[in-house]
Amino acid sequence: AKADGRNGFAIFDAGMLVQATARQQIDAELRRAIAEDELVLYFQPQIAAQTRRMSGAEALLRWHHPGRGIIPPSEFIPIAEETGLIIPIGERVLRCACAAATGWPADTKVAVNLSPVQFRSGALFDTIVRALSESGLPPHRLEVEITESVLLESAASNLDLIKRLRELGISVALDDFGTGYASLSYLMKFPFDTLKIDKYFTMNLMKRKDCEAIVASVIALAGGIGITTVAEGVETEEHFAFLKSAGIDYCQGYLFGRPMPPSELRFDPAARASA
Ligand code: C2E
Ligand code: CA
Ligand code: CA
Ligand code: CA
Repeated sequence: AKADGRNGFAIFDAGMLVQATARQQIDAELRRAIAEDELVLYFQPQIAAQTRRMSGAEALLRWHHPGRGIIPPSEFIPIAEETGLIIPIGERVLRCACAAATGWPADTKVAVNLSPVQFRSGALFDTIVRALSESGLPPHRLEVEITESVLLESAASNLDLIKRLRELGISVALDDFGTGYASLSYLMKFPFDTLKIDKYFTMNLMKRKDCEAIVASVIALAGGIGITTVAEGVETEEHFAFLKSAGIDYCQGYLFGRPMPPSELRFDPAARASA
């Protein structure tokens, strides 16, 4: 309903109040959730396109809420970023992800999402180094996923941090490629190991010719400058066949597995097929 001029102000205010109260409530609930260990990591398989063997997994947060069931990250990470709670949450994610991966085959990696807010904290490098040393996971088995916003703000100091991570042997992936402003020139300017093609593009393959052309040329150009490519959101064999023939290195999506508790991961393809 459209507010009239007289009431418009009050209605606007009430809406803001409701929003602010909801945010405060979620913030309080999140603090409780951290204390009660309700935030858990799921892992989604990544597979090598050539062999369909599992090459690693991406860690994805879930909130096991006692009353509301499983809450997806889109509903609480933006608030955790606003309130700064993403800092302790992100630290736990790093520790748990590294610890989980120590039990996986030695040729697999774990990918961890980093929020731009974690970059602002000043403690991120030490947090990552500690997660590795406490778990004993070799640095080359950790990949961090960042979005271009990390490079738009305080580019110089974040670039320095990224370089230091890479010097340790950690690989750095540019997440959600294609959804923002990041262009292929980014890949030359910033030292990425991996490019993750956003699921929007994958899911529109076979529907839109322009998506097919964009995806194929991104894969070819990234490969040409030595950057590994990962496609996310691979849901069908048709998508997979297209990506594979375009030269994609790795795929991630419901076709190969949804995000799952670590106990359900199957690294052996035969075991996965019969599971
Ligand atoms: P993202 O990093 O782009 O993660 C990929 C998202 O795509 C995940 O959603 C995953 O479940 C979903 N996905 C994977 N394969 C498919 C598919 O075949 N089809 C469809 N429709 N979706 C697929 P999820 O788990 O809900 O996570 C959403 C976002 O929340 C992530 O997007 C990431 O930005 C953020 N996030 C999750 N965990 C963390 C975390 O530990 N730290 C931070 N900072 N952000 C996180
Ligand atoms: Ca990601
Ligand atoms: Ca992504
Ligand atoms: Ca995303």
